Amino acid sequence: MTAGTPLLLPLDPPDDSTPLMAQYLAIKAEHPDSLLFFRMGDFYELFFDDAIRASETLEITLTKRGKLRGEDIPMCGVPVHTWENYAARAIRAGHKVAICEQLEDPAEARRKRGYKAVVERGIVRVMTPGTLTEDSLLESRSANYLCALSRVRDGFGLAWVDVSTGELACEALEEGGILPAVARLAPGEILLPEALFQDSGFRELSRDGAALTPLAAACFDSENARKRLEDYFQVASLDGFGAFSRAEVSALGAVLDYVRLTQAGRMPRLLAPRRLEPGSILEIDPATRRNLELAETLSGSRKGSLLACIDRTITGAGARLLALWLSAPLTDPEGINRRLDAVSLLFDAPDVRADLRAELAGCPDVMRALTRISLSRGSPRDLATIGDVLARIPRIRALIGRTRLPGEAAAALDDIDRDLGTHTELVYELSRALADELPPLARDGGFIRAGYSPELDELRSLRDESNRQIALLQAKYIDETRIQTLKIRHNNVLGYFVEVPAARADALMTSNVLKRPEGGEDALLDGAGGEAGEKTLFTHRQTLANQVRFVTVELSGLEDRIRGAADKALALELSLFATLCEQVLERADALSRAAEALARLDVFQGLAEIAGTCGWTRPVLDTSLDFHIEGGRHPVVEDALRASGESAFVANDCDLGPGNRLWLLTGPNMAGKSTFLRQNALIVLLAQTGSFVPAAQARFGIVDRLFSRVGAADDLARGRSTFMVEMVETAAILNQATERSLVILDEIGRGTSTFDGLSIAWATVESLHDVTRCRSLFATHYHELTALSARLDRLSCHTLRVKEWKGQVVFLHEVGEGTADRSYGIHVARLAGVPASVLARAEEVLAHLEQGEGSSASDRLAEALPLFDANAPCPPQGGAAGGTGRGATGPGPVERALADLNPDNMSPREALEALYHLKALEAGEA
Ligand code: ATP
Repeated sequence: MTAGTPLLLPLDPPDDSTPLMAQYLAIKAEHPDSLLFFRMGDFYELFFDDAIRASETLEITLTKRGKLRGEDIPMCGVPVHTWENYAARAIRAGHKVAICEQLEDPAEARRKRGYKAVVERGIVRVMTPGTLTEDSLLESRSANYLCALSRVRDGFGLAWVDVSTGELACEALEEGGILPAVARLAPGEILLPEALFQDSGFRELSRDGAALTPLAAACFDSENARKRLEDYFQVASLDGFGAFSRAEVSALGAVLDYVRLTQAGRMPRLLAPRRLEPGSILEIDPATRRNLELAETLSGSRKGSLLACIDRTITGAGARLLALWLSAPLTDPEGINRRLDAVSLLFDAPDVRADLRAELAGCPDVMRALTRISLSRGSPRDLATIGDVLARIPRIRALIGRTRLPGEAAAALDDIDRDLGTHTELVYELSRALADELPPLARDGGFIRAGYSPELDELRSLRDESNRQIALLQAKYIDETRIQTLKIRHNNVLGYFVEVPAARADALMTSNVLKRPEGGEDALLDGAGGEAGEKTLFTHRQTLANQVRFVTVELSGLEDRIRGAADKALALELSLFATLCEQVLERADALSRAAEALARLDVFQGLAEIAGTCGWTRPVLDTSLDFHIEGGRHPVVEDALRASGESAFVANDCDLGPGNRLWLLTGPNMAGKSTFLRQNALIVLLAQTGSFVPAAQARFGIVDRLFSRVGAADDLARGRSTFMVEMVETAAILNQATERSLVILDEIGRGTSTFDGLSIAWATVESLHDVTRCRSLFATHYHELTALSARLDRLSCHTLRVKEWKGQVVFLHEVGEGTADRSYGIHVARLAGVPASVLARAEEVLAHLEQGEGSSASDRLAEALPLFDANAPCPPQGGAAGGTGRGATGPGPVERALADLNPDNMSPREALEALYHLKALEAGEA
């Protein structure tokens, strides 16, 4: 909310408030922290502070309406038919939106309580970032979680729900586990008890953009929560769902409470709560998740992340499930192998996969449609979504059958086949009931197929016949009045009326037109009019600038019959809609099982697809502490290189068995150390997700925790310098890693003095080797550390190879045994466009340090500190390896040669020679 906005809203309805304003103020008082969208006819209006905030956020005009205590009341409004866009923008800007509807028909209110009656209004829903259900407000390929965090004594419980799909789960946590769990879920909103909300330590939960919402402590009371949950799920005890701790029950109860509150008492369909067992997923702390760019890159975009790179799912539900699996890889080899079995079968059956992908392309989001239907927010299109998807299930099941020989086991695919189920009757009913073209909303009707309900067909033909009669009447009046431009029109205020241009209106005003004998057509007018020669009486209703409007007795009579038939047809259609929704909800359990099964199938085919198209292999996982990767690749870097067509990715091995569990990796800048470190972590992550991996072979013992300290950025928002961030991450690793963990450490101790940095790096290596004893990859420019290999028997030194050729450094990106003799930092600085004068000076200093002229031993250590890093300017466009392109120092030889060419004066042969010359220059050979 905008700080400092004057509070314009009166606390009590003042005496001079109109009844409408008094109603507004009473409703607003119940929702002080939401923007109140107050329905008035075809608009949602906002008043007072809400109007000021909304006009700023939504960029809509601020006006005023009436006065209160002598002051103008600020007002702005959004049209009803586009409210979703505005609500979405308001929510994205951090507001909650309370939707207040008219609960009765204004005409009915006037009929019942007089002309000045105020229409009854009430809140039908409070929209918050974590409780959205509309497709237009949600990302189809991402879940939108609402979390609740509770504390019972020293233990914490975290519950989460995706209201749009009904997924509900929880886990018990210690304090240290809260941030990693929240980073994994990336919720849109987190509910906290007032006491935690006030505690500044917990404010950090909103770090990645989640809205924090405080709730009264009573909402978290675990006993009440248990009762609410038992009540909602209609069970005598929650034990059947899992052994929940008090903190978990409390968090689940708070979620339930809040959903009920925001949906104004209506509850969506929620799935039975799932409990995440401790240790069942690969733990990844927030820094590692960020560093490895799992779901988004360091700059916050999905493109370029691991998820975006591997996602070959077709459906929104499949994409969401893949994101969920990738965010929480498993630690149980059996569970992982079940997934891998399914991927393997689909990997081996590319034809079936192609057919499956085509079927999945026709499967919209059943889960979200089902939730909207359960909230009475469903549309005819939601019903069609369900019907269409169910209709495909027999074909999809047949395809699953084609993935294996009879008797060949694949439990995960068997489960999918079973869960997809059979839905013949519902498919038949929906396909019979729903028209081919469907409106987005049920309220206007027009979605039931002709032939489905004889009664509806009859009412419709009556309604349509009446429309035909209007046309006949119009023709008749034209004939009578000789006014060719006469029209019969309709609006909500006047109903049906006769409209003529103002210039011709006098004829109808002054002398009523002589009615002509019309024979049979008059009979249609239900007694209106009369004998031949009678005048039609046009009664004046309205004069506009260019038009004048009249009504006639015939028209009013016809209107009553039209409205009667249309109203009845609409009412019948709506009741048929309600019945169809009920039929769907009766089968909701089976439908959500089928929807989940489809999502799993989509993930499996997607993983098989990427494995098939990118040459990935099935990993072998066991309970050992081995780690053997042959020909491993970094999927995202490989993808980028493939797309750019620059060069092929160089695959590398990594063997971190118990006898050799720590690799010390040295090598020049830009040689590929970080890439190598990350690719091994990503291979673990993918394998434990149940995916094939980008390697020729991968075999390793399950990893329980993954840690990565790669690169460093300061975190000024939290008051942490670059070095502090580095040390916090290092501390987390040394304190939490176990023998079963995989640790990748890149460049420890760079943000401090040489000796400090080297000492910390040294001690960290020793600790990882002797105390933690985990599998680790440690990349460093402190070449001094390689001396440790003599003393630490399970440490081995590896390096990224380079070739020096004609004064240039060529990165081979090959990892081999040994140590690097230097970092080639100055070479990389040249590539980056550092001015030649600085480079020359740096060469000088380096030579001086290397020879130890006039320097102590500590001076020589400075070689390991890539000083230019801190001050490196942005690389210029096109800075190419080999120094032949344009650097900051001016055009390179290629550009100079290019500039000298004049194609107009060259023969074809000269042009060809010039081309060869350029190529040679570029390769540094000329
Ligand atoms: P620094 O020490 O400067 O941080 P680094 O050794 O960690 O550098 P990376 O950042 O891993 O180097 O890699 C630099 C670039 O080299 C990558 O962006 C990629 O384009 C390329 N590269 C890295 N590894 C490979 C590989 N195995 N095959 C092909 N290209 C690679």
